[in-house]
Amino acid sequence: MSTNTQQAYAVPDDADAPTCDHCGAPFPTERIRALHEGQTHPDELTDDQRERFEAAAAEESDDLRLFRFKALGGLVVVYFVFLLTYALATAEEIGFAAA
Ligand SMILES: [Zn+2]
Repeated sequence: MSTNTQQAYAVPDDADAPTCDHCGAPFPTERIRALHEGQTHPDELTDDQRERFEAAAAEESDDLRLFRFKALGGLVVVYFVFLLTYALATAEEIGFAAA
């Protein structure tokens, strides 16, 4: 288990986790480490780290945009499912049901 001065992390001893060059915190992926370094240590970044952060931030932004489109699509589907269910459930009451 690795620790640093700010927070303890549960990392198996044989794990090869990328760690922050500035505070030693472990991360599951290089991308998350790059995001951490750019957001937590912006004044201490080297040019290479800054490039990795900007690339990771752009990827993160694209992933968020895709997630928002999928979430919006899901909401539209749920809305129309409820709308059609309501329309079918009330069709008899307003006289549109097949005889
Ligand atoms: Zn750090």
